[in-house]
Amino acid sequence: MRESKGKSKLGLRDLEGALTARDKVGVQDLVLLDAHKSEGAVLDNLKTRFSVDLIYTYIGTLLISVNPYKELDIYSKKHMDLYMGVNFYELPPHIYALADNAYQTMLTEANNHFILISGESGAGKTETTKKILQYYAVSCPSSALLDTVRDRMLMSNPVLEAFGNAKTLKNDNSSRFGKYMDIQFDSQGDAVGGHILSYLLEKSRVVHQNHGERNFHIFYQLVEGADEDLLRQLGLERDTEYYNYLAQGECTSMKTINDKNDWQTVKNALTVIHFDDSDIEHLFGIIASVLHLGNIYFDRDFKGFAVLNSSPELRWVSKLLGIHVQVLTKALSYRKIEAKAEEVLCPFTVDHAIYARDALAKAIYGRTFTWVVNHINESLENQDPARKTVIGLLDIYGFEVFYVNSFEQFCINYCNEKLQQLFIQLTLKAEQEEYEAEGIEWEPVQFFNNKIICDLVDEKHRGIISVLDEECMRPGDSTDLTFLEKLEEKMGFIDKNNDLLYRHIKEVMQQSKNSIVQQCFLPDEGDGRRRPETVATQFRSSLQELTEILMAKEAWYVRCLKSNDNKNSGKFDDALVKHQVKYLGLMEHLRVRRAGFAYRRRYEDFLKRYKPLCPHTWPHWRGVPSEGVEKLVQHLGYQPDEYKMGRTKIFIRYARTLFATEDAYEICK
Ligand code: ADP
Ligand code: MG
Repeated sequence: MRESKGKSKLGLRDLEGALTARDKVGVQDLVLLDAHKSEGAVLDNLKTRFSVDLIYTYIGTLLISVNPYKELDIYSKKHMDLYMGVNFYELPPHIYALADNAYQTMLTEANNHFILISGESGAGKTETTKKILQYYAVSCPSSALLDTVRDRMLMSNPVLEAFGNAKTLKNDNSSRFGKYMDIQFDSQGDAVGGHILSYLLEKSRVVHQNHGERNFHIFYQLVEGADEDLLRQLGLERDTEYYNYLAQGECTSMKTINDKNDWQTVKNALTVIHFDDSDIEHLFGIIASVLHLGNIYFDRDFKGFAVLNSSPELRWVSKLLGIHVQVLTKALSYRKIEAKAEEVLCPFTVDHAIYARDALAKAIYGRTFTWVVNHINESLENQDPARKTVIGLLDIYGFEVFYVNSFEQFCINYCNEKLQQLFIQLTLKAEQEEYEAEGIEWEPVQFFNNKIICDLVDEKHRGIISVLDEECMRPGDSTDLTFLEKLEEKMGFIDKNNDLLYRHIKEVMQQSKNSIVQQCFLPDEGDGRRRPETVATQFRSSLQELTEILMAKEAWYVRCLKSNDNKNSGKFDDALVKHQVKYLGLMEHLRVRRAGFAYRRRYEDFLKRYKPLCPHTWPHWRGVPSEGVEKLVQHLGYQPDEYKMGRTKIFIRYARTLFATEDAYEICK
């Protein structure tokens, strides 16, 4: 077992020794800034600390992280050991402190937690998630059996990133799906299992990339990394430029990405998380078939209909998916129409044929991604599901604002509004509960409630999603223009929301001999008469589910900030950071934390730190801790309005009071 909080293996002196003058630049908790100074002071403080590589700062127990865009030597085993079992304020702010506090609280209170990591694209959310995972992997107790769970948990990352991340204009390794990962612990604190939920993979990227962006990493890894034999088996050229689905963004290769090396990592990871040879063969077969699909062309006959002539690409798709070439050809060039108990084949126009081809590529890839996540979940399943508690890690796309914003940005930004609302509810709830638990009168706080924004999007019948769904229901007549009449904005939404795959193509996929494709297109769904749910509606319900999962847990927050837009190390763009501080609601959070009693500390912790300041408590206070604290603060001259005594904690109203105490402590120690 690990030692309990406050009784670190290292003595206090060692901890103090670990703090250098540099570690104390600015204030490490924004709550300590003078209350009348606000946004400017917050920004100054973040900037000053950033300039000496102090990227972490607290607001109480919320952690702010500013992306340094360079490797810092603060994630070593030594650092992990240092932060184990230590209180927040004893060491410089760190992601390990937050991870450790969530873990310790989970163990002592035997309850569930989640860490919400938010911020805009490229701010450092995914890196933060990985650091937390690594911290648990290295510092939680373990047995040989559990090492397997641990390895699999760590290895799920490169696989998910290969299939779900891509280079975008904002981030060379941008997650194009939302991820919620539960780490399950037994009562000893051993990691015993895990479970991943994924949200809204950006499937449109499979067939289209904007200039300067790439498709999902796995495609390039396969083409660059596979050995000659495998390439031959899959019918692929070693030339990423050759594939239409890879080359549109005109940046197939980049300095910052080594697809060949990553390929090895991913292949190795697949083995660790228990994909067998046949799974792997079928998986790569699917990736290759998508590339071949993108190179299939349609000729136009004299009536303007699509003609699909035999081609090597077509034959490869047929071979890799295990679908007869004639069946495939027909599926891609004719549409099946049911009229009066009869089935009529109606040829596609070239545009429709291309649409159907792309829809198939997206469907195969999207479903395969879900299959991969499910497979990882099976391998992470807790073998002994008796008593367990969880820490959930939520790494979800931050707000995105591009020059041209589309359906994806709509969904992503809606998700962020939803999470912001959860944050407001939970923070206020937690504050109120703590006041009540400690027997201190609650003082209501004013804040901006973004519920109106969420309602605007997701209210039944009146919200944007309902209007959009209605538009999607009027076959033939609905275009973005008709949608526009209602929303006054044109964005390309209708197609993406519908996400239709022709039914006859689905039926053909069910005949596939590729075992993964078979599992991905199981017969019973989608071919009933019931209209399938649209993308936005599905997303709305999965967000609702997520909200419920989170509401039942204790929340911890990491807010990631982007220091600049050019991935420059050391550059702090004031305007950019200011903007993020605003919309991440940091000032709101600070206000909530400062309102009423800004600072609170458990009596034991308060005594332990400040007992040298008072002859009654030094060197030991043998009585009830709260009485010791009372003696201590009276000796220090705290005024009655400056503090209140709760059941287990002292509540201090002003930061300056605690500041003065800290100063006295610095002098006397
Ligand atoms: P997000 O998931 O928020 O879109 P990432 O976590 O992928 O962003 O971070 C983008 C890039 O920023 C990373 O690839 C890495 O180069 C850099 N980065 C992020 N966090 C850190 C960190 N703590 N230390 C060093 N570099 C970082
Ligand atoms: Mg990410």
